[in-house]
Amino acid sequence: MKIVLASNNAGKLAELQTLLAPLKMTLVRQSELNIPEAAEPFKTFVENALAKARHAAQLSGMPALADDAGLCVDAFGGQPGVDTAYYATRFGYPKGDDTNVTALLAQMQGIANRRAAMVSTLVAVRSANDPEPLIAVGRVVVQITPERRGTNGFGFDPVMLLPEFGKTFAELPPEVKNAHSHRGRAAQAMLALMLERWLDSAAP
Ligand code: IMP
Repeated sequence: MKIVLASNNAGKLAELQTLLAPLKMTLVRQSELNIPEAAEPFKTFVENALAKARHAAQLSGMPALADDAGLCVDAFGGQPGVDTAYYATRFGYPKGDDTNVTALLAQMQGIANRRAAMVSTLVAVRSANDPEPLIAVGRVVVQITPERRGTNGFGFDPVMLLPEFGKTFAELPPEVKNAHSHRGRAAQAMLALMLERWLDSAAP
């Protein structure tokens, strides 16, 4: 079985390919099929992930899997959430991972409550009109460090400190990130759902 990964984010794609390797499915990146990015107009992760998965399934004629992720900062009432990818543009910076981190550190200067959750919602559909999408959510609670630490990963990894390791995701090897990250947790749940619902491995 082939499945389209509805994302153009290279860091995310590499992680998902590793995490979903046990499925033994062929994972095809949507860019390889010339599928453009879908609009993400919604206020929740699940709605945006569903829109992305449907769009890729519609244009490819194949099952599709999409992820919508974002940072929910306690001190900002859970924002920026679904707008995380564009966070830096609110403050006049260009869109990008590095500018996002710069903007976050500037906005959190002097704030004592550094707690935030990174959330990943994965949605998989067998076709664009699948009435029963598979939905898996993973989250990890982190402390936002006052400055960047480490060079692994992508996005906010250099400022996401895992209290149990005393290290940021960017200071940890990829396999440790995958075992403890929002996306790792969502992928484990999605793996179980696909095995049970799509691949029938749990049938009596
Ligand atoms: P999107 O789901 O691709 O729109 O990602 C939302 C935002 O969250 C982007 O700014 C990503 O860089 C960031 N992000 C997503 N996953 C991770 C991660 O695993 N670590 C750090 N940042 C992430």
